[in-house]
Amino acid sequence: MIVGVPREKTAGERRVALVPDLVPKLKQAGLDVCVEAGAGTAAGFADALFADKGARIEQAVLAAADVILKVQPPTGPEIEQFKEGAVVIGFLQPYTPEAAITKLAGRKITAFAMELIPRISRAQSMDVLSAMSTVAGYKAVLMAAAQLPKFFPLLMTAAGTVTPARVFIIGAGVAGLQAIGTAKRLGAVVEAYDTRPAVREQVESLGGKFVELALETKDAEAKTGYAKAQSEEFYQKQREMMLTRIAAADVVITTALVPGKKAPVLITEEMVRAMRPGSIIVDLAAEQGGNCALTEPGQDVVRHGVLIIGPNNLASTVPFHASQMYARTVTNYLHHLLKDGRINLDLTDDLTRGPLVTHQGEIVHEVVKAAMAGP
Ligand code: NAD
Repeated sequence: MIVGVPREKTAGERRVALVPDLVPKLKQAGLDVCVEAGAGTAAGFADALFADKGARIEQAVLAAADVILKVQPPTGPEIEQFKEGAVVIGFLQPYTPEAAITKLAGRKITAFAMELIPRISRAQSMDVLSAMSTVAGYKAVLMAAAQLPKFFPLLMTAAGTVTPARVFIIGAGVAGLQAIGTAKRLGAVVEAYDTRPAVREQVESLGGKFVELALETKDAEAKTGYAKAQSEEFYQKQREMMLTRIAAADVVITTALVPGKKAPVLITEEMVRAMRPGSIIVDLAAEQGGNCALTEPGQDVVRHGVLIIGPNNLASTVPFHASQMYARTVTNYLHHLLKDGRINLDLTDDLTRGPLVTHQGEIVHEVVKAAMAGP
């Protein structure tokens, strides 16, 4: 079976779905690994490194591959090159209207969406969302530190004492916790808030201060470990209660998400106005609509003297390690699907069935199908 790894063609994407160190394990599993020339260059993995580990370097890999490992969703022209019946594993953005899902079904592709891997214990090593959130949380802090007109740490110098920056992190999931750790390491005073009370201990173990808001959050966590959506009245109260924290912060990093919903708006224009000029908001929820009302996805904007950064695809800005982590999760998933060097689908297994979007010419994921049918 041939595993094909194409060069990602989406503008701005610097990651690659496989790194050289993982080639030998695929070969040991009886697979032939074919990497498109230049596929890893932008991430720091030259063709020769792949070849040294036993991969074949080809000018085009899609037409011959039985399994295709991707980062970004395949484009229309890419899908047209896929061999009928091939398997593709990668981010598919299956809920976006422009998704290529129908085309994948039309070509009888068996397509697995990495973002739909269930977050269960045995799939932890395949949890790509956590891996990429780790990168984003780290990079968000560095972006803020690079643009803030202040130091992060407390400094006592002959030229006077510098007070540390105050960083407020909203949402202490995977990205938020990584942001807390990174901001602490840079010496900032870090506060964080999350609607799930269970994260208090995690915030404190990283040296952050968990902000207490007098909000009823007993019921804020779903069985899956994710946040539940709250009423607009709740969000209104939360905004009022966070106002003083936000106004006092030099940097606010927002990561608050509720699965399957648009991100809640937790910072209004009035709240931005209350911040000191020169302060920074990094809105990691930008791609899901943003936690700040003034965020423009993919843009840096200055509003009322506050720089609001709405990054898209932050993981791609740390392409070496993001590729290493991504490749680890995607190859672990591929190994899960293999038996004796061949793809062997057990459709009764949640880990196989959960991320499966198209198979044998059909869209087989019920939620994706319902989303495509519209409201
Ligand atoms: P996420 O990206 O969906 O959300 C980020 C954070 O935003 C969450 O912590 C959420 O509680 C918070 N949030 C939502 N609404 C908010 C609001 N109004 N105000 C403040 N914060 C708000 O989630 P995530 O970071 O991917 O994961 C969240 C949790 O899921 C983890 O901490 C963990 O408990 C669980 N998880 C489990 C596994 C597993 O394998 N079992 C893997 C990853 C994550």
